Amino acid sequence: MDIKEHVSLKGYTTFGIDVSAKYFLEVRSLDDLQQAFSQKLLGSHPHMVLGGGSNVLFTKDFVGLAIMVCNKGIEVAEQTAGSIVLEVQAGEEWDGLVAHCVERGWGGLENLSGIPGRVGASPMQNIGAYGRELKDVFHSLQAFDKQTGRLVKFGPKDCQFGYRDSHFKNEGKNRYIITSVCFRLSLKNHHLHIAYGSLLSELDKLGIKDPGIRDVRQAVINIRNGKLPDPSVLGNAGSFFKNPVVSMEKFLRLQDKHPDLVAFPDPGGMKLAAGWLIEKAGLKGFRKGDAGVHERQALVLVNYGRARGQDIADLGQAVQNAVSEKFGVELAPEVNIY
Ligand code: FAD
Ligand code: NAP
Repeated sequence: MDIKEHVSLKGYTTFGIDVSAKYFLEVRSLDDLQQAFSQKLLGSHPHMVLGGGSNVLFTKDFVGLAIMVCNKGIEVAEQTAGSIVLEVQAGEEWDGLVAHCVERGWGGLENLSGIPGRVGASPMQNIGAYGRELKDVFHSLQAFDKQTGRLVKFGPKDCQFGYRDSHFKNEGKNRYIITSVCFRLSLKNHHLHIAYGSLLSELDKLGIKDPGIRDVRQAVINIRNGKLPDPSVLGNAGSFFKNPVVSMEKFLRLQDKHPDLVAFPDPGGMKLAAGWLIEKAGLKGFRKGDAGVHERQALVLVNYGRARGQDIADLGQAVQNAVSEKFGVELAPEVNIY
């Protein structure tokens, strides 16, 4: 095991914040994890797990061990006439996986094209976009239990997937390192999900009447490229907040005051578009120093270059305060703050 000391995390997170980890370990195999466990690196020392760093914000140096999950491999675990189960190691790049599947005509992941990060993090918040979520194609996962040193298998129910949520963000928080994820994908007769407004318009704009999974991937990538800041140009971690879900009663009261409120039905009531709330609170494009609210998508906080993590966190708090004051709605961060 090669444990490095005082490693800058600037290049390992998409916010590009200049902080360091006291210790840093790249895990490439289950053996590496077993060794780290037997050397008691996962028990006594503070530690955190890092994938592609596209959903984290460090507000200070991390005075512990940052474990970067890098194990690779994509294998067909099961095959029937109409579907396959694909086992993917946690260190694979998420969008590389989506491209791999689409190129082979395997359907199910195409709406989730263009999401940064690695496969191991995808169940953490049940990643979702353009009307689809990880849980729609999830089969099972394997995780290393840091308490016992054993590998544990989780099925869909065990993961307790919710809206940008899972067991691993709640009772299972900080206990597991996800080592691989299995997906069930279709081989033919793909059931496409293209009802999401901007996706439908983009396919229309491309003149595609009878789309396939490649077209859906391309359309999603086009929309993303036109709207979201590229982290290699402007540091960010995607949506900083979750879209808040409010009761139907509260929604109706808000709609009465704000007839153009953007909201969608949700099992818990109504899901409000947090980006709309932030924009209407007057903060779209707001900038303080090098921390800013993105000018095209107010849900994304950005680092214009030399923002400190605490500057971004303070801006996040200011956004929460402004939205709470104007609408009486509390925003919760989606990004994992350390
Ligand atoms: P990290 O940021 O490295 O980690 C995120 C959390 O998961 C941390 O708490 C970390 O400790 C934990 N973790 C990571 N790997 C493991 C593991 N193997 N085992 C246990 N815990 C682990 N998200 C969406 O849901 N939908 C989107 O459409 C979307 N679009 C985005 C667009 C942009 C431009 C950006 C920058 C981000 C976007 N995101 C989106 C957020 C982010 O890309 C995803 O949440 C992604 O899954 C995070 O993966 P990661 O490997 O970068 O995780
Ligand atoms: P958008 O299309 O402008 O829509 C704004 C919000 O309204 C979205 O957050 C979305 O909720 C919701 N929405 C829109 N149409 C919907 C529908 N038909 N049914 C249910 N909800 C609907 O959003 P955007 O910012 O360009 O993002 C597009 C998609 O990519 C969204 O799904 C978004 O979640 C995803 N995305 C996520 C991140 C991230 O970091 N988490 C970053 C960029 C984009 P949902 O968010 O619940 O879909």
